[in-house]
Amino acid sequence: MKPVNGHAPIPALAAGLNRLARNLWWSWHPPAQELFKALSPRAWEYLSHNPVAVLHEVTPSELRARLLDPVLAAKARTVLDDFEAYLADEQTWGREHAPELLERPVAYFSAEFGFHESLPIGAGGLGILSADHAKSASDLGLGFVGVGLFYREGYFIQSVDAQNWQTELYAPLQPRDLPLEPVLNDRGEPVLETVPIAAAQVKFRAWRANVGRIAVYLLDTDVPENEPIYRDLTRRVYGGDSTTRIMQELLLGIGGVRLLRALGIDPSVFHMNEGHAAFLTLELLREKTAAGLSFELAWGEVRLACVFTTHTPVEAGHDRFNEGLIEYAASRYLKSFPAGREKILGLGRVRPNDESELFCMTVLALKGSRAANGVSELHGRVSRAMWCGLWPDKPEAEVPIGYITNGVHAPSWVNGTTYRFWLRKTNGDWAARVEDPDFWARVEDPGFVSDEELWAFRYELRRKLIEYCRKRQPVQSCGAGQGAFSVSGALLNPDALTVGFARRFATYKRAPLVFRNFEAVVALAKDSERPVQFVFAGKAHPRDDEGKKLIQKIIHLSEHTALKDSLVFIENYDIQVARRMVSGCDVWLNTPRRPLEASGTSGQKCGVHGCLNLSIMDGWWREAYDGTNGFAIGPDAHPANVEEQDRVDAENLYRVLAEEVVPAFYERDASGLPRRWIKMIRRAVAGLVPCYHTGRMVKEYTEKYYLPR
Ligand SMILES: *Cc1c(COP(=O)(O)O)cnc(C)c1O
Repeated sequence: MKPVNGHAPIPALAAGLNRLARNLWWSWHPPAQELFKALSPRAWEYLSHNPVAVLHEVTPSELRARLLDPVLAAKARTVLDDFEAYLADEQTWGREHAPELLERPVAYFSAEFGFHESLPIGAGGLGILSADHAKSASDLGLGFVGVGLFYREGYFIQSVDAQNWQTELYAPLQPRDLPLEPVLNDRGEPVLETVPIAAAQVKFRAWRANVGRIAVYLLDTDVPENEPIYRDLTRRVYGGDSTTRIMQELLLGIGGVRLLRALGIDPSVFHMNEGHAAFLTLELLREKTAAGLSFELAWGEVRLACVFTTHTPVEAGHDRFNEGLIEYAASRYLKSFPAGREKILGLGRVRPNDESELFCMTVLALKGSRAANGVSELHGRVSRAMWCGLWPDKPEAEVPIGYITNGVHAPSWVNGTTYRFWLRKTNGDWAARVEDPDFWARVEDPGFVSDEELWAFRYELRRKLIEYCRKRQPVQSCGAGQGAFSVSGALLNPDALTVGFARRFATYKRAPLVFRNFEAVVALAKDSERPVQFVFAGKAHPRDDEGKKLIQKIIHLSEHTALKDSLVFIENYDIQVARRMVSGCDVWLNTPRRPLEASGTSGQKCGVHGCLNLSIMDGWWREAYDGTNGFAIGPDAHPANVEEQDRVDAENLYRVLAEEVVPAFYERDASGLPRRWIKMIRRAVAGLVPCYHTGRMVKEYTEKYYLPR
C-alpha cells in the first residue's frame, strides 16, 4: 500500500485523526491509542480512553500546533496510513470465500455490543462476543452489518459503599463525545423510523458505530417525538422489568429490520445472536404476508433467511413472556398479521396450542431459523437435550442444533506491552495473522523466543497489574482527603503467583468457591516460600442481593483477614479492567457449575499474554485443555447433585493448586527460571491463541451458516 499521508499537510492530518477517532479500528491498534493518549494523557485516562472525547478536550489550534512536532506528526502519518490501508484492502478472506455476502450482507442482531470501555453498552460476555464477532468480520472483509441498541445510560458503574455494598451509578452518555455517528437521511436529518409498541407508534433514530470496514447500527428511542416513557425505553442495558424487556426486544427485532430497509440494505441472512432479537422473524413474516404470501409459505421463507445462536443453558437466560404482557406490548403489532394472533403466539411455544405455555423467545428463534448452534461442543449437546421437545420425532442426538465454539478478538485484548512484545518477536503485524496456527507454532521454539524473554515479559505484565491495583486502593484511614490514594508497597507481591477471577457474580459462576475452605486458602496465601495471591472483580446484577453479599464478603476478606494484602477486589469490572487482569495474572481461575458455562470467553483472552487457565472442564476449556497448556479442575464429568458438586470441585481446586499449579510456578532452576511453567506458556500461546480467536469463529459461521447452500 502506498503511503497516502506521507506529505499530508497538517490540516489534513488533523482531519484524519478526527476521522480515525470515529472508527473503532483504533480499539484494536495500540499505536493509534498511544497517539491519542499523547495528545492529552490526563483526558485519556479520565475519559475511558476515548479518542473522540480527547479531541474535544484539545482545541483545533492546539491539535495543529502539536502536529508541528515532527515526531508526533510522523506517528500520526504511520497510523493513518495503516488505517487507510486497512480500509482499502481488496485482498480479503471475505472477498475470496464469500463474495455473495458483499452484495447482500449478513445482518447480525444483538441486544448488546461490548466494543470498548468508552462505549459501555454491554453487560457481559454476550456483548463482548458480539463486538469481537463484528471486529473479526471487519478484519476478514466480510459482508456484514450489525444491529443493536444504544443505551443512553449504558450499563451501570459499580461502586461500593462504606459497608462494601455494591451501589450502581449511571452516567449519561453523550453521543457527540462517543465513537459514533448519527445516521442521517438525504436532507441531513436523523433517520426516524417507527415501531408499534403498546398503544404508541414509537419513533427511533440510529447511531452508527464504524467498526473498521463495517457498520453496527444502534437504535435509540430518545427522540423528542416520543412520550417520556418511550424515550426511556433504551435508557439502560436490560434495565427495568419484563415490560421494558419485551419492549426493547420489539424495538430491536422489528425496528432493526425496518432500519435496514430504510437504509436500502438487503441482507441475505439474519443472524440472531441470542433470543432477544427473535422478533425480527415476525417482522420478516409480516413483510412477506403483506406481499401476498400465505402464512405457511411466508414462514418457510423466513426460516430460510435466519440463523440463531443460543448462549446459555441457564433457565433465566431464556426470555419468557406471559400472554397478558404480549397482549399489552404487542397487540397493535399483532393486528398486522392476517393469520391471527393465536397463530403468531404459537410460534413462541413448544406446543403451539397450549395456552398455558409462556411465549419463549428462544423457541421463536429456533422455529424461525434454518440453522441453530450452541457455543461449545458440550453446550451444543446440552442445548439439544434442552430443546428436543421441538423435534418430537427426532432422537436427541439428531436435534438440529450444532455448535461453534466462541473466540475472542485477540488484538482488542492487548495492551501496549503485549502488542509490542509480539511485534518485536515477529517483526511484523502479528495482529493481522492471529488465526494462523503456523505463525504461533513458532512460540514453542526457544530459538524464536527465549525463556528469559518470556519470563521478563510475564514480570512486566504482572508489575503493571499490581501498580494499577495499588493506585486504585483508596486510603481508608489516616484522614487523607477524598481522591487520595495509598502508595502501599505491601499490597500484592510482584514475585508471587497471581490468580485472577473476574466474572459477573451469577450464582453458577461460583466466585466464592476458592474461599470455601478458608484455612486452605490462607495456607496458600501465607506460604512464605511459595505465596499465592488473588485479584478479583465482578458486578452483581442490580437486583441480585445474593451476588452483592458475595462481593461484600470478598471485599471484607481483603480488608480484615489474614488475606489482607494477598487479595484485592477491583471495583467496576469492565473491558478495561478485564484487559488489565487477563494480562497481569499468571493464572485465570474459572469455577462454573458445569455444564452451565456455555463457553466462557475471559479465559480465551489470556493466551496472548501467557496467562494460564485453571478451570472446571466446562465450555471452551474442555475442548482446549490438552494436559500441557494449563490446568483442569476435576474430571470431564459432573455429579448430579449441586451440593456434592460444589464440595468435590472445591476439593479438586485446592488439590490442583497445591500439587500442580504452585509447584510448577515455583520450581526454579539455577538461573531462577521456572522452565516447566514457561513451557506451558509456550504450549498455551501456540495452541490457544489461533484457535480461540473470533477470526476462526467467524470463518466457521460463514462456511457453516451464512453462505447459501
Ligand atoms: C470477557 C468479559 C466477560 C465474559 O467473560 P466470561 O468468562 O464469559 O464470564 C464479561 N465481562 C467483561 C467485562 C469481559 O471483558
